[in-house]
Amino acid sequence: MTQGSEDRYDVVVIGSGPGGYVCAIRAAQLGLKTACVEKDATLGGTCLNVGCIPSKALLESSERYEMVRHELDAHGVKVGGVELDLPTMLARKDRIVDELTGGVEMLFKKNKIHWARGTGRIQDAGTVVVSGASGEEVLRTDAIVIATGSSPAPLRGVAFDGERVVTSTEALSFAEVPKHLIVVGAGVIGLELGSVWRRLGAEVTVVEYLDRILPGVDGEIAKEAQRLFTKQGIRFVLGAAVQAADVAGDQVTVRYADREGGTHTIEGDRVLVAIGRRPHTEGLGCEAAGVALDERGRVVVDDHFETSVPGVYAIGDVIRGPMLAHKAEDEGIALAELLAGEHGHLNYDAIPSIVYTHPEVASVGRTEEELKAEGIAYNKGRYKYGPNGRAKALGEAEGLVKFLADAETDRILGCHILGARAGDLIAEVAVAVEFGASAEDIARSVHAHPTLSEVVREAALDVGRRALHK
Ligand code: FAD
Repeated sequence: MTQGSEDRYDVVVIGSGPGGYVCAIRAAQLGLKTACVEKDATLGGTCLNVGCIPSKALLESSERYEMVRHELDAHGVKVGGVELDLPTMLARKDRIVDELTGGVEMLFKKNKIHWARGTGRIQDAGTVVVSGASGEEVLRTDAIVIATGSSPAPLRGVAFDGERVVTSTEALSFAEVPKHLIVVGAGVIGLELGSVWRRLGAEVTVVEYLDRILPGVDGEIAKEAQRLFTKQGIRFVLGAAVQAADVAGDQVTVRYADREGGTHTIEGDRVLVAIGRRPHTEGLGCEAAGVALDERGRVVVDDHFETSVPGVYAIGDVIRGPMLAHKAEDEGIALAELLAGEHGHLNYDAIPSIVYTHPEVASVGRTEEELKAEGIAYNKGRYKYGPNGRAKALGEAEGLVKFLADAETDRILGCHILGARAGDLIAEVAVAVEFGASAEDIARSVHAHPTLSEVVREAALDVGRRALHK
């Protein structure tokens, strides 16, 4: 790659989310002169500012609040006078976000990455024009990386007003606990934020178009999760097509049609629309530059993340694949390595996916429904949290681990966990999948006692019908 005048780069990354900022750091580590364009006031993108991090901060705080109010009694711990201090809870979340976004800025300085502040537009394969508060900056480069992420998908007939009818961004900062929060969409974001506000005292109704929650998650696991969330007090209305959300004062009426065409209404004081996210390419100049988009508006890339225009690449939420921060990060690393002449690679079969509700839902690989649809013969092992000693000590006896292994080779095809700390437990299985391991490999590995990881091992043993404590 060429080194030239001050404004000439080897790589210009547009967008500083987990895809973009990690790609920029890895490129700089590999000696490439790198700039990253970001239009927002802070680095870190959706994930750090209004996604993964603030939602997890609130999930953690609200879980502690719920635990102190409802679960400590059983441990023989009496606590009185418990009160919610929502401003402090929100300020803590904001502080965590500030620390992390500031941390990325420091990493940029350390790695000598130029932060071009403003909105980036691709002028041609070698030029990005950045429009910012202080005017225009022209960046000439050998490689352009589109890492512009995604934004909340709107729902036809429902207008966001930022106050009563909102996206996940506003739902991370409600100044008071809603009385009745109506969540449209029973996906990851809807269930996580619905859980936060239910724990803090809101009545929560989740309205979902499909006949199930958590699309994409293994059906058996999703069904059991719905049972547990219902037990916690979340109300589900499934098979419901939301048609309108009408605001009158501080009330919102959500209208939906059921499968038979009957129309119904629900009254609430806040509506969170969380029906998915769409790739963000507005104003990027894709069309003029000849960068092809698919029918869903995603940037089309080949196996090496190159778009239809040579020298222009794309990663993260803006391309195909699951919209997950770690997927974006690993694509960023792989691409930077490819640009530096190394062998970057990402195994899409080994990407874990986690829902941070309580209990958590975690998975890697294929679901049972997918294996059936593909006609792949498999063996199944299941083990519940209930008999596990550590689960009992934690008071976390609800949950299960399910392994799906190739019927002939025993290679792990999928693993699905519903239960406490599922998000941590799945890491072992993701590594196993990456190494092409079998269920037997997990079953023969020593797992510390007493830990929840023994549930994973028992489920792996159960693939061969030899779980010990079943
Ligand atoms: P983004 O993070 O969206 O970043 C794109 C950046 O590009 C933004 O900063 C944007 O301002 C900038 N940009 C866009 N256009 C331009 C332009 N023309 N010029 C300059 N800058 C531009 N994922 C997980 O893995 N785990 C979770 O727990 C999780 N929780 C989530 C919770 C919520 C509430 C939400 C909304 C999302 C969550 N996600 C989670 C998804 C995760 O945030 C995304 O998958 C991830 O942020 C995608 O990274 P990205 O780099 O592709 O894009």
